Amino acid sequence: MQTSLWYYTVPMLRLAELLVENSCLDRVFICNSGLEANEGAVKLARRYGSLNLNGAYEVITTNSSFHGRSLAMTAASGQPKMHEPFEPLPVGFINVANNDIEAVKAATTDKTCAIMLEPIQAEGGINVPDGDHLKKVREWCDSNGILLILDEIQTGMGRLGTLFGYQLFGVEPDIMTLAKGLGGGIPIGALLAKEKASVFTLGDHNATFGGNPVTSAAAYATLKYVLDNNIVGNASKVGQYLMNGLKALQGKHAIITEVRGRGLLLAVELNTEIAEDVLMNCLGNGLLVNRLKPNAIRMVPPLVIGNNEADEALSILDKALASVAMGG
Ligand code: PLP
Repeated sequence: MQTSLWYYTVPMLRLAELLVENSCLDRVFICNSGLEANEGAVKLARRYGSLNLNGAYEVITTNSSFHGRSLAMTAASGQPKMHEPFEPLPVGFINVANNDIEAVKAATTDKTCAIMLEPIQAEGGINVPDGDHLKKVREWCDSNGILLILDEIQTGMGRLGTLFGYQLFGVEPDIMTLAKGLGGGIPIGALLAKEKASVFTLGDHNATFGGNPVTSAAAYATLKYVLDNNIVGNASKVGQYLMNGLKALQGKHAIITEVRGRGLLLAVELNTEIAEDVLMNCLGNGLLVNRLKPNAIRMVPPLVIGNNEADEALSILDKALASVAMGG
């Protein structure tokens, strides 16, 4: 189940190989969770800064982002409510307005080594950026010689109807992080990097359980299943079907102000703070939704659902909205 950190194992290598073959990244470090992958990503960017950018160490992140619960990732996450209870926070993270290239430009200095984004902010509200925003950020990174880190912990592994979110926006990151769906329920995270950003040398980074044969085998089996069974295509197709159904519900229920998202990462915004009541009503009828905000729910169903399950979900949500709107 566990080997010394000094050895590669076959399951670890098979997973790394499959990830490299199916992404634009060249190197993989396997760890145990999302925040660990993000910590590794920031360490890697700082190492890049120390080697190539005169010691630049700052990472620009966005307001409403979520990158994990370690102290550094708490600072990276652009949410004051996450910061205040744990101050003072580690330095080196600059939170700027989301989906705002001018804010990114204004925050970039000779201390900046990377920009770190979720392709679509997930916990922060399923905030879909403008179609060309990531391209503009990519261009800005290139023209300043700094790295683009994409946190694909929630958006990766087919969730948006593409294997990775970067494919949806036509950009390639220098560093990418994965976790959540990667292990199909088994705890695992991965840090991927392009060759030019793979600047760790022996001793810079490691994790005792990272890349152990058991979790690596689980993630390999998950990714192989996702690829062999066109789960990504399914997420795209059913996601569109669910989105159309939610838009139809919007036409029927005036309390829905917006439906947004991509693939099977969707949000329904409401004109009053009744998300909790809608959630409880749905739960009572067999549908799990998530309270994204007091006035918004999130739907993040398994990527294997079909149109039948989408119809069932839409019907339960339809009744829940009618019932809650009537005070039921
Ligand atoms: N990054 C994103 C975008 C996430 O959604 C999450 C978890 O919700 C994390 C990082 C943290 O991952 P973990 O909970 O595995 O540490």
